[in-house]
Amino acid sequence: MASEGISRRTLLSGTVAAGVVTAVGVGAGSALAAPAGFYHPFTGYPITGTWQDHLNSGSLGGIDFGMGVGTNLPACGGGVVTNIPYNGTGGHTVTIQHDNGYRTQYMHLSQFLLGNGTRVAMGAVVGLSGGAVGAPGSGSSTGPHLHWHMINPSGTRINPLDFMGGGGGGGLPKTTTEQDGVPGPIMWKRAQNWLRIEQGYTGPIDGVPGVNTYAALQRGVRGYGYTGPIDGVMGPNSWAGVQRLASHWGYTGPIDGVMGPNSWRGFARFLNQDKYN
Ligand SMILES: [Zn+2]
Repeated sequence: MASEGISRRTLLSGTVAAGVVTAVGVGAGSALAAPAGFYHPFTGYPITGTWQDHLNSGSLGGIDFGMGVGTNLPACGGGVVTNIPYNGTGGHTVTIQHDNGYRTQYMHLSQFLLGNGTRVAMGAVVGLSGGAVGAPGSGSSTGPHLHWHMINPSGTRINPLDFMGGGGGGGLPKTTTEQDGVPGPIMWKRAQNWLRIEQGYTGPIDGVPGVNTYAALQRGVRGYGYTGPIDGVMGPNSWAGVQRLASHWGYTGPIDGVMGPNSWRGFARFLNQDKYN
């Protein structure tokens, strides 16, 4: 039966739709651990309003990302969720209180997914984007987008992209697996971010692959000759798909379903593309 940890999470997530409970539950122990940091969940979307654009229009600041209504909004870092419905011009707003005292706010949502007080891991989906003109949670938004800002411990609104460094670059470091052929947490975080962007993975970006990560990985290698089940159980056929992917990124060894250092190097070279930062 469920451990105490699972029971507690289920309790906290009591108002959540079934699919989302699964997403939050991924990573079990690590989901409740203190967050290691932050990442930029929206590198795949165009910036349609800069920080300066916001200041120029009298806002306290924020970054707008163009995305269709209903897009998954992953937490940029772990923390505790509070929903603020009809938050003035911001419309439906999710606040994530991070353990280091910083807060994140996502605005103009079309839908809340988690109950107040839910603890989430980095990468867990906390709501769905909105912003369509006149929709109930849109506030003053004039078109579908996400507005994102952060608030520092002294209450000042700050630009999340500056806070994370890189001035708008991504949040995940490159993995050294490309050099040493040894898979580790950074490689798996990048894999989870790839799968989030392209394969519908909604679990945490925690570098700890579980069944949901592996199921998404199996989906990801269907284009590389894998025809087996999407069951999250990696067998030789699943790994052979990963090797075929790696063969497009410099791997020249056998496609035998046995991952060695050279297989991991090719896979890591694929994952180290900037778009998966
Ligand atoms: Zn905005």
